[in-house]
Amino acid sequence: MIAENQFFFKDAIRNIEVTIKREDLIHPFVCGNKFRKLKYNLLAAKAENKKTILTFGGAFSNHIAAVAYAGKANGFKTIGIIRGEELFDKVSDNPTLQWARDCGMQLEFVTRSDYQSKNITAFEDQLSDIYIIPEGGTNALAIKGCEEILTKSDAQFDYICCSIGTGGTISGLINSVLPHQKILGFPALKGYFLRDEIRNFVENSNWDLINDYHFGGYGKVTSDLVLFMNGFFGRNQILLDPIYTAKMVFGVMDLIQKDYFPEHSKILMIHTGGIQGIKGMNIKLQNKQLPLIDV
Ligand SMILES: *Cc1c(COP(=O)(O)O)cnc(C)c1O
Repeated sequence: MIAENQFFFKDAIRNIEVTIKREDLIHPFVCGNKFRKLKYNLLAAKAENKKTILTFGGAFSNHIAAVAYAGKANGFKTIGIIRGEELFDKVSDNPTLQWARDCGMQLEFVTRSDYQSKNITAFEDQLSDIYIIPEGGTNALAIKGCEEILTKSDAQFDYICCSIGTGGTISGLINSVLPHQKILGFPALKGYFLRDEIRNFVENSNWDLINDYHFGGYGKVTSDLVLFMNGFFGRNQILLDPIYTAKMVFGVMDLIQKDYFPEHSKILMIHTGGIQGIKGMNIKLQNKQLPLIDV
């Protein structure tokens, strides 16, 4: 699985070139990095003769959508433990959950505290058949999958930029980066605990986190961000997702303007996908009478 690199633009003043790796095109609905994170987990589940994959996620989770689809495509039963009991009778209003159910995923809605404690006692008698994947899909095998994002021809880039949720994707990138390159991660959530989390998975040190572009925290979206996304889509015909990639791309563009990158830098931005979340976000934005994301 190799994603295409698309030249994006050149800043003529600073001689900076920006390219986008289109991991989002790996599948029309399921986002690229979630596929990569599942690859070796699916192989492990098969090798262990497991029949069912169980995982966790929120109402708009790209990971839930990816597991539901991958389970269907690979002959596994899937169970999604979903945060929020109140969503129980609202599946048809939620494009992500509806997609998961259409793929055959069994959805179990739990309270926030049961979700927090990852309480799965309800499945105790089936555990020998179940392969468990953590929230967001990040574990050692997921990181191994993300080590396949960069290819030999990406050696030409000086900076590789990606969005961060749980830190799995960036850990894979860091493990496969070359000594002359630097990985910049843009957390989609507030907080610095990520740095320690990532350190557990990597040895290279040529990476850094840019914490200024979370737009208020995980899942938070401002009108400025939506207007940026719409301008970007209008000019480039590339959709960004509001939770992750839009925040990273906004950050990279802003940092170029602020002369963060040295002249003649070659930057690669990883478009990790997440497009399936736009529909659900637009329903939320509409309820708040805020500008909608163009599609
Ligand atoms: C999950 C996700 C990320 C973050 O990946 P992590 O491995 O959790 O850091 C980035 N972009 C998109 C579109 C995602 O769905």
